[in-house]
Amino acid sequence: MAKSYFRENVDEMSPYVPGEQPADGERVVKLNTNENPYPASPRVAEAVNEVMVDARLYPDPVATGLRAAAAEAWGFEPAQIIAGNGSDELLAMLIRAVVPPGEKVAYPVPTYSLYRTLVKGHGAESVTVQWPDDYTLPMKELASSGARLVFVARPNAPTGTVVALDALAALARGLDGVVCVDEAYADFAEDNAFGLVREFGNVIVLRTLSKSFSLAGARVGLGFAQEPLIDGLNKIKDSYNLSRMALAAGEAAVRDLEWMKANVAKVRRTRTRLVGELGRLGVSCTASHANFVFASIGPKARNVYEALKARGILVRYFDEDRVRHGLRITVGTDEEVDELLKALAEILPA
Ligand SMILES: *Cc1c(COP(=O)(O)O)cnc(C)c1O
Repeated sequence: MAKSYFRENVDEMSPYVPGEQPADGERVVKLNTNENPYPASPRVAEAVNEVMVDARLYPDPVATGLRAAAAEAWGFEPAQIIAGNGSDELLAMLIRAVVPPGEKVAYPVPTYSLYRTLVKGHGAESVTVQWPDDYTLPMKELASSGARLVFVARPNAPTGTVVALDALAALARGLDGVVCVDEAYADFAEDNAFGLVREFGNVIVLRTLSKSFSLAGARVGLGFAQEPLIDGLNKIKDSYNLSRMALAAGEAAVRDLEWMKANVAKVRRTRTRLVGELGRLGVSCTASHANFVFASIGPKARNVYEALKARGILVRYFDEDRVRHGLRITVGTDEEVDELLKALAEILPA
């Protein structure tokens, strides 16, 4: 083997595998990466056009306008908010700021697989705790893991399940470290963990504009926590982590909450219909609080994934313990869901 110039942890790690992104112009029914099927608020494009004129100037390093909009929208102080280049950047920043290399980060699995990649890349150690069958929070195991940082995706991916807020509160109380509640899908759920931020200095809630706000391509994430935690993250932040265009897009989107909520309502209606129709095909789903469903297919899940792909329908298959019997299907438009159901009705009996 050729000599490697990388750190051992980098040599050992495998890169994060995102869902396939078809080439521009390729016609597929894309239900594999939990993007929103509806467009973002028209105010976003207007705002981005306006700031393009000033693109020769560096952007605001502290995202003043976006943070002010978020503070107003969700009832926080701007000083309790940090903006990231997607919530993925905020996850990476948290690990860098909170976890010394060699120390532990804990999370229940299966979950968002980027956690593992980021922890390994930092040279820290992942402590994974299996979700119980009912997907309640394995609070005791997480609290006693010795981790400096615990990730809980709520709703969880790829299952769509949510843990009880009082279990998260108990974890925040019991852990000598930071609890990060990754709320990428919270707008599609019934409640959220913002209340815990007000109660606990060691809780940070992460939001993204990628899913509910239809802005996955703009890369805008937000972190909400009490000031000391935000101050610490600001110290290690890249100075210009969001472009002028991303900042303008994010602020315009957050100032048009009604647009987002209308799209979320449509997605939730389609989700209910999708779960019902899958049930009629003999496919059960975990109770999803997100913009995707996790459908139990059985031992042939991978074949069904391949058969759908051959028909131009992309969903997500994870060859991992606990989830290799199922498919994660993003809730698309009603028309997209109809195409999926029609294909499944043909594929499944075979
Ligand atoms: C999509 C997703 C993210 C990433 O969001 P970005 O803001 O696009 O980086 C984070 N966490 C979970 C659980 C997600 O599914």
